[in-house]
Amino acid sequence: MILLNPGPVNVSDRVRLAAAMEPMCHREPEYFDLQDDVRARLLRLFALPAAEFAAVLVTGSGTSAVEAMIASGVPAGKRLLVVNNGVYGERIARMAAVHGIPVDEVSFPWQTPADPDAVSRAADTVRDLGAIALIHHETTTGLVNPVAPVAEIARKRGVRLLVDSVSGLAGDAIDVASTDLCAGTGGKCVQALPGLSFVFVRRTWLADAPRRSVYLDLAELAAKQDARNTPFTPAVPLVAALREALTEAIEEGLAARLDRYRRTAQLLRDGFERMGLKRWLPHDALSNTLTTLRLPAGRTYASAHDALKKEGFVIYAGQGSLEREAFRIANMGWIPPAQLERLLGALEGWVRS
Ligand SMILES: *Cc1c(COP(=O)(O)O)cnc(C)c1O
Repeated sequence: MILLNPGPVNVSDRVRLAAAMEPMCHREPEYFDLQDDVRARLLRLFALPAAEFAAVLVTGSGTSAVEAMIASGVPAGKRLLVVNNGVYGERIARMAAVHGIPVDEVSFPWQTPADPDAVSRAADTVRDLGAIALIHHETTTGLVNPVAPVAEIARKRGVRLLVDSVSGLAGDAIDVASTDLCAGTGGKCVQALPGLSFVFVRRTWLADAPRRSVYLDLAELAAKQDARNTPFTPAVPLVAALREALTEAIEEGLAARLDRYRRTAQLLRDGFERMGLKRWLPHDALSNTLTTLRLPAGRTYASAHDALKKEGFVIYAGQGSLEREAFRIANMGWIPPAQLERLLGALEGWVRS
């Protein structure tokens, strides 16, 4: 089965088999060697200096990393400005509310990348602003938000930039060093297995991190992991699989990985256009890894899904209110090139049926 949903993704046999390891105790030196190695490789892949950034492992899906980032990243007594143009922006606002963090939002329509000038104006109106949260790749629609100008807005005001790059890291370009906290996961463009995620944290912020959660406390996780320890039982086989995926990504090279995704998306988009399928986003701020397509008049997502599943492909519905007008095809993970042509053939068969 070829997965064209935005995670979990198809992975190499090498990554899959790494998880089939002998059970390993998480309080033994061999686990701490593995943990140290994964944390170092994460920093290396994203070109982060170890003196300035910590890669903190979180056992849980991407959402756990994002929630850890929000709960630990907004200073006590300060407000969070959420840049919202999709489901994941909305989710961050909900997380902040649950943790008792006062939230302001600057919202844009789902078709529209965040406008830095509007973010800047919104930031000026928030008293006691502590942090700005932004989604790098809004997986709701496949649009890429402008991280660099928002990082500049945060920097100028001396507040933190918290980025959800769960579906962006290793798929679309981002200068992680321009952020203060950045959440990612193994189970998307990093091409590891689902259930293990991570947050890159600027070390200067760890000292006075607020404590709003027991499990999702980045300061505690970082302190323990730095000391070759762990507060809870990590998903050890997933850590082994992530190490293998990071080794693969470093071998491929980050730039080459992004380029492969970009070329794959282009090949698919050219094919969609040839068969008359229209993209849902009206602009070119498109990610390298996901395309939202309009459902042709009179056609249902269910019929597309079922026709493709028979051919061995899993596609993805439109999210939230988009379900009846659009559907999504992601190209995250390891997809053999021959399968892309077969996918376009199967999709065209459905379009013409
Ligand atoms: C997938 C995704 C998440 C959540 O990840 P889970 O692994 O499903 O918990 C968060 N943010 C973005 C932008 C995502 O694409």
